[in-house]
Amino acid sequence: MVEQSSQSYNQQQAIQAREARKYVYLFREGNGKDKKLLGGKGAGLCEMTQIGLPVPPGFVISTEACLEYFESGFKFPEGLTEQVRTAVAEVEKAMNLGFGAPINPLLVSVRSGAAISMPGMMDTILNLGINDNTLHGLIERSGNERFGWDSYRRFISLFGSIVLEINDEQFHLAMERLKEDRKIAADTELTVEDLKDLVNIFKKIIIDNTGKSIPQDVYQQLFMAIEAVFASWNGKRAIDYRKEFKITPKIANGTACNIQTMVFGNMGGNSATGVAFTRDPGTGENALFGDYLDRAQGEDIVAGIRTPKPIAEMRNAMPDMYRELLKVRETLEQHFKEAQDMEFTIEEGTLFMLQTRNAKMNAAANLKTSVDMVNEGLIDKEKALLRLDPSQLTQLMYRQIDPNNTLQPIAVGLGASPGAASGEVVFDADEAEKQAKAGKRVILLREQTKPEDIHGFFASQGILTAVGGKTSHAAVVARGMGKPCVSGAADIKINHITAEAYVGGNRIVQGTVITIDGGSGKVWLGEVPMVEPEISENMDRILKWADEFRRLGVRANADTPMDAEVALRFGAEGIGLCRTERMFNASDRIGLFQNMILADNPEERHEAVQKLLPLQQEDFKQMLRVMHGFPVTIRLLDPPLHEFLPSEETIERQINVLQKCQQALGDVCKLPQILEDIDPSLQTVLAEDEHMLLNLSEIQSNELKQKIDLLQKIRTLREVNPMLGHRGVRLGITYPEIYETQIEAILMAAGELIKETLPVRVEIMIPQVCTSQELKRVCDMIRRVERRVKDRLGIYVLYSVGTMIEVVRACMRAGRLAEMAEFFSFGTNDLTQATFSFSREDAENKFLPFYNEHKILQDNPFEILDVKGVGRLMHITVEWGRRARPDLKIGICGEHGGEPSSIEFCHRINLDYVSCSPYRVPVARLAAAQANIKEKRGIIKPFQ
Ligand code: ADP
Ligand code: MG
Ligand code: MG
Repeated sequence: MVEQSSQSYNQQQAIQAREARKYVYLFREGNGKDKKLLGGKGAGLCEMTQIGLPVPPGFVISTEACLEYFESGFKFPEGLTEQVRTAVAEVEKAMNLGFGAPINPLLVSVRSGAAISMPGMMDTILNLGINDNTLHGLIERSGNERFGWDSYRRFISLFGSIVLEINDEQFHLAMERLKEDRKIAADTELTVEDLKDLVNIFKKIIIDNTGKSIPQDVYQQLFMAIEAVFASWNGKRAIDYRKEFKITPKIANGTACNIQTMVFGNMGGNSATGVAFTRDPGTGENALFGDYLDRAQGEDIVAGIRTPKPIAEMRNAMPDMYRELLKVRETLEQHFKEAQDMEFTIEEGTLFMLQTRNAKMNAAANLKTSVDMVNEGLIDKEKALLRLDPSQLTQLMYRQIDPNNTLQPIAVGLGASPGAASGEVVFDADEAEKQAKAGKRVILLREQTKPEDIHGFFASQGILTAVGGKTSHAAVVARGMGKPCVSGAADIKINHITAEAYVGGNRIVQGTVITIDGGSGKVWLGEVPMVEPEISENMDRILKWADEFRRLGVRANADTPMDAEVALRFGAEGIGLCRTERMFNASDRIGLFQNMILADNPEERHEAVQKLLPLQQEDFKQMLRVMHGFPVTIRLLDPPLHEFLPSEETIERQINVLQKCQQALGDVCKLPQILEDIDPSLQTVLAEDEHMLLNLSEIQSNELKQKIDLLQKIRTLREVNPMLGHRGVRLGITYPEIYETQIEAILMAAGELIKETLPVRVEIMIPQVCTSQELKRVCDMIRRVERRVKDRLGIYVLYSVGTMIEVVRACMRAGRLAEMAEFFSFGTNDLTQATFSFSREDAENKFLPFYNEHKILQDNPFEILDVKGVGRLMHITVEWGRRARPDLKIGICGEHGGEPSSIEFCHRINLDYVSCSPYRVPVARLAAAQANIKEKRGIIKPFQ
């Protein structure tokens, strides 16, 4: 029995060993396309090796090994150590060197590298394989004693700090003390004897901290280093970085570990190390760009011990090497079809490549590179479009500080929401509103902001806070509104009580003009010249290509003719949402509009509304004129009426003041009588005053009565849940005068333009619809008005009628609604609120950040369309709607219409167009093209 079971155990072992997974890949065999398995660095090394570039031999331990190491409680998976030993033997053979050999020793680097590059977040150990014996072999091999000892001390400190987790300050301080002792400044002045001393000191640091000597067994060194590299994946630095850049396990999981033969840029003359880009990442210029340092190891550049030289100087200093590097540049770009960012080292006149990856470039450089690479025949237009990140375009779509500006900032905070703005400082939100109403451009300066400051955000050009990070209230809200914001400018000391601020000897009071740049976080005193966002030649080219490839239409949300002009400039093919409420909020109309709201009966209301008609008509006319035949979707009044009225508190405060006045006035009115009683002869003199006072008191009490009336009305209009209350089509049906007037204004505007023989396409859109009866009533109303307009103008006005889809019931009744509606437009802001039953403000200010952080929800559904819930509803709506009316036109006008991943979804459910803010139109054009190209290539499929 015992025999048998032990036998079967052995058999099992044997099977497992035979089936042990492959964890180790030589550079010459690994699949360079598989970054997930080999990490970006490993994949790049494999790829470069296999296309014949000079890469020091080595191998990759896969990310799978790393994950299994964590899963099994920090143990190497079965078979890994054997596979590593076999691979080392291969490298020894290729190099004709021996790992741990006293003569001709092999030294390696042990380098981390995940699927996504996380620069500086994980660890790399150099010169591994050096010990008291191999040191002498290394000295012999290089013929350079100093180099040998220098490599040894570097290894001990790297191994000590990374693997043994000793604070590297200890090594640093020891070296500084020695330099002080020998009265030298630069590391390079250390003599062989100094370095020998340093090695001993470093060895002692290791013993003092760990109670053990630094391992002399090179395989022990190697396996400990591999563990340390694996562990760095879960180091605090790396975890924080992944959180910040939203790197999920799906994108990158675990780090690979690269073991690579060391090459030495510090070995002697004609040696160097450097970092280079195949194209200039700042401008996109097609020329080698970078830095190098002669007689140095890679880490010296990073550590900033010596200042590197621009790579162009290599042309004269090391002409052969420079020429070779140019050849490498060519080979890499031809192979990867993408600009590369590479690390190289030159050891005694031989060039070695140590890393390559896709270059990160700024937005403008990326556009130029796309255009150039097509012109060079390197890639086609589709690839040129796909390689761009649409949201990067937004960087180019904000007002920016003039690049030629030389003014020095007074403070620097965090660039929390991009764009630049100038204005007069105000210290609180009410003041911001007041000043803005008076026509001032203001910047809201606060220690930090709170939800109740929201009206101040609306009124301001930009927001500046002294406290708070990129996810502070100010930052989040400003980004949502697309307003520039600098947060956490801690040098600014604010006193909210005295309403003043100090920064570097400058005093800022209300009205002081400042400029902020929400991209760089800089703050200036006074006005700094800015440049308006423009479509550059390269962007224009790219966007025209995008237009060739996209199926989705792109429109803009625009409420004013000015917005509409911007939208056209950026390539919008129509207005997908023109909100009419902004027109009522203008200072010359709000009074008229309030009269209408407060009217006691339909007649009064009608009269008030008639005064608004010509004003609205003129607005619509201008808008339609600017759009010159492109479709313009005008939405009838949507928000609840109370938004147009003063708040109850304001009126109450006014009443209070008036009541006090009345009392005081009452006392004053008694005065003439009292005087008269004292001296009756004054009667004639006082009569006039008495008369005046009585008048005054009457005016006063009338005003008080009016205010009390107003308060009464506001109170009757008060709703518990105004956003779910008397608004949108419900208001339009119960107060028909409003919609009738708006419809008449729209049709008259269109009709008059038609009479001028201008092209007009107008679409009337009804908000908040949830039942077909609502739609029917408004449609009937439209036909009534249409007849009136026809009688007046003597012509037919062509128009179409459609509905917003922003209520869940509307989705469920899509088929029925489509019988009447000629188009649907998804209002995904409200639809998201309705689907989640979240109010956006409360969600974003209270629990959403927590939900996102703890992955209860992956994204903020108000930024990135929730495909699984809201998206599913949209898909059903599209299907049912088109079944009832095959040519039903369907678009989206929520904020998601300008967000690339949401645009991709809109493409997948076959919408006709997306509509977004004018400044996002270029983003949408590119994202729409990418969606279509991806579908063509089978990368995405229609949503099912
Ligand atoms: P990071 O990902 O932080 O850039 P790397 O693994 O690329 O870390 O290595 C850090 C530095 O060490 C780089 O400058 C790199 O070029 C250099 N280096 C890595 N491996 C070797 C090697 N085998 N020979 C010479 N230098 C190396
Ligand atoms: Mg590197
Ligand atoms: Mg809505």
